[in-house]
Amino acid sequence: MGFENEDCAGSPDSASRKVCYVVSNDLVKCSSLLPSNHHRSFLVHSLAKAYGLFDPSTDRNRTKLQILRPTPANYKDLSVYHSRDYLSAVLNEENTEETFRASGLSRMDDSGYGLEHDCPLFTGLPAYVKLVAGATLTAAKSLQSGDVNVAICWDGGRHHARKSQASGFCYVADCILAILALKRTQVFFSPTPRKARIMYLDLDLHFSDAVCEAFVSSADHSGAPQVLTLSVHHTSPGFFPVSHLASLSDPASPAFDPFSLSLPLAAGASDASFAKIWPSVERVKDAFEPDFVVVQCGMDGLAGDPNAVWNWSLGSANGSVGWCLKRICNEWNCKTLLLGGGGGYNSANVARAWTYLTSIALDQFLSLDSDIPDHAAFPLYAPTFTLDVPPGTTPDRNTDEFLAEIDALFRRISEIIRNRMASVQC
Ligand SMILES: [Zn+2]
Repeated sequence: MGFENEDCAGSPDSASRKVCYVVSNDLVKCSSLLPSNHHRSFLVHSLAKAYGLFDPSTDRNRTKLQILRPTPANYKDLSVYHSRDYLSAVLNEENTEETFRASGLSRMDDSGYGLEHDCPLFTGLPAYVKLVAGATLTAAKSLQSGDVNVAICWDGGRHHARKSQASGFCYVADCILAILALKRTQVFFSPTPRKARIMYLDLDLHFSDAVCEAFVSSADHSGAPQVLTLSVHHTSPGFFPVSHLASLSDPASPAFDPFSLSLPLAAGASDASFAKIWPSVERVKDAFEPDFVVVQCGMDGLAGDPNAVWNWSLGSANGSVGWCLKRICNEWNCKTLLLGGGGGYNSANVARAWTYLTSIALDQFLSLDSDIPDHAAFPLYAPTFTLDVPPGTTPDRNTDEFLAEIDALFRRISEIIRNRMASVQC
């Protein structure tokens, strides 16, 4: 199945939303090799295509979809964040699991690059790193160009990779590279031209440790912060990744940084809990007034994921994944970069989710009870063969008292952000 050469220009209405979707046959091939998510990329793009989302004839709502082929990142692009030594390790075609096993050496492990356990070397890793980073940067650049409102890169969103270390199935820090690229944007539509503000919102089950760490120390408390990170995730003793930054943000803490925020939810988090914390997310957004929003849409919190921690549904109920993304795409009035990621280990459900979110971005909402179209991967959608991912039966451990505490803390945090932004010359 080919994904290229499908320029889907709809009605040239200047008021319409413009969406770019990054995919290529090479990207799908490389992403599908990722040991933690074999073939997931193929499922995702195949389902979106099977639903006709790339078809100009379904472009009923005056949106304009442009499919972009990713430009692979080169060494210079990657070295904007990654270290020279780490790049030498992951970009060396001769470094494979087999060669290291055969040599009896573990140079990579000893060097601390993290290329072991959940991040093994695999054939095709150099091309994977270049293409995934290139795909996310291609999407980010389309937003910088000025006429794209939403850019989608479901193969990006690797939020655990660090400057010199692979971690948590992540080999390349494409989220960080995208934020660094967007930071260089000059915003001319504000009363006074200024550098762009970027809000990074992470909805993956796991804390976005690497992204938060990358920017937490860069918050210049006397100047105008350009980047705010907010991670909504699960944390509990021993749950990956263990980080002191993953606990609930509290202005009373000496280490509190209003531009590096954490909002952990307990096990069983349901649509109802997300509906209750969502005003906190939006208060932060309103106080910071970002120009760009980078959303990591990891789907390992969905019901049916093997992690079996949260009980989030795809649906349309208040607080569901679809409801949250609909608000971001339709009401936030920011240029939005949607990155897949990331988490999501029930590949059929992830394909359902990202296909549905694509339809939201296009303003061509698919019906959740629609039948999965006949296509090569059709049998994998048994037994329901419909688009929806309904909630399961896991009880929601987020108590009303805990959710009220989050609400109170984030009201104070939003005020702090608002006062800080008002006090600095942006
Ligand atoms: Zn995750």
